[in-house]
Amino acid sequence: MEHISTELTCLVADPNHYQTILFGGSGTAAVESMISSVSGNEAVVIVNNGAYGKRMCEIAAVYGIDYLEFKSPFDDAIHLADLERCIQSSGRKISHLAVVHHETTTGLLNNVKELGVLCKKYHIDMMVDAMSSFAAVPIDLKEMNISFLASSSNKNLQGLPGVSFVIAEKSKLESLKDRKPRSYYLNLYAQYQYFAEHAQMRFTPPVQALYALRQAIEELKQEGVAKRYERYMASWTTLITGLKRLDLSYLVPEAHHSKLITSIREPYSDFDFQSMHDFFYSKGIMIYPGKLEGLRTFRIANIGDITSKDIEFFLELLEDFLDGIEVNK
Ligand SMILES: *Cc1c(COP(=O)(O)O)cnc(C)c1O
Repeated sequence: MEHISTELTCLVADPNHYQTILFGGSGTAAVESMISSVSGNEAVVIVNNGAYGKRMCEIAAVYGIDYLEFKSPFDDAIHLADLERCIQSSGRKISHLAVVHHETTTGLLNNVKELGVLCKKYHIDMMVDAMSSFAAVPIDLKEMNISFLASSSNKNLQGLPGVSFVIAEKSKLESLKDRKPRSYYLNLYAQYQYFAEHAQMRFTPPVQALYALRQAIEELKQEGVAKRYERYMASWTTLITGLKRLDLSYLVPEAHHSKLITSIREPYSDFDFQSMHDFFYSKGIMIYPGKLEGLRTFRIANIGDITSKDIEFFLELLEDFLDGIEVNK
């Protein structure tokens, strides 16, 4: 676990000043630990431009944290001037800002580096849900002014689900020492402190998922983070070229797109997602429904151990499926 912790830190920061704190649990456990442990008595601004930003608001609400929701379009860059106005005019002392790096709902990639500059100006510490950007999209905690980052074993790390983690600046962790905990199990400082002393998690670790994660990190190092992102982006280009050929459109414009997951508009108003899902499922491909309220979309991810070839296979099947609809209409 020490090896895993250090390796994860090294992907985004200097392990002398930053520490990875491991939890058993899915990604939301790490986000919940971060939000509930780090927020103090002052207000937290939470950027909501998709379902995962909204989830952070819901977590803050559960813990009774004083938060300020900054709503931003789901398909466009965060308007920094608006956000700055929100910070200035709130009338509250703001200690933290929480944001999702890559909104897995839509494929929108938020410009965390710009937000880091804004946070620095107002002495605000930044918490980032980097669940589906970590290990592909370049991240440097110090350079981006990120104090706390949450991610998990099963997205771009390509491991098994079951391990999530927070990577944090050690000095910021130490400052949580005398904080009254809001949660017992997800107490970030206690988990950090216990690991520092015993090199163990406080509670039963998900051993099998940790062995898989160790192997996944090995495979990531063999491929390289930059090369992995290149492979993902090549798959995305294949996907988008195919979508255009099939006359399908997607939500987020390329300039703000992660090129990792794509929300595609359903082609007809009475489109039946479930039958498309079942069609692909029978061919060994799992596709996801959309996750934005009021918008009829489905999502295709091109992360994981897949290549452009797999995407081409997917596109052929998609064409067959759409042709089948035409025939039956
Ligand atoms: C996957 C994901 C999560 C966590 O979801 P879990 O189901 O708890 O693993 C959180 N935030 C983002 C942006 C995600 O993509």
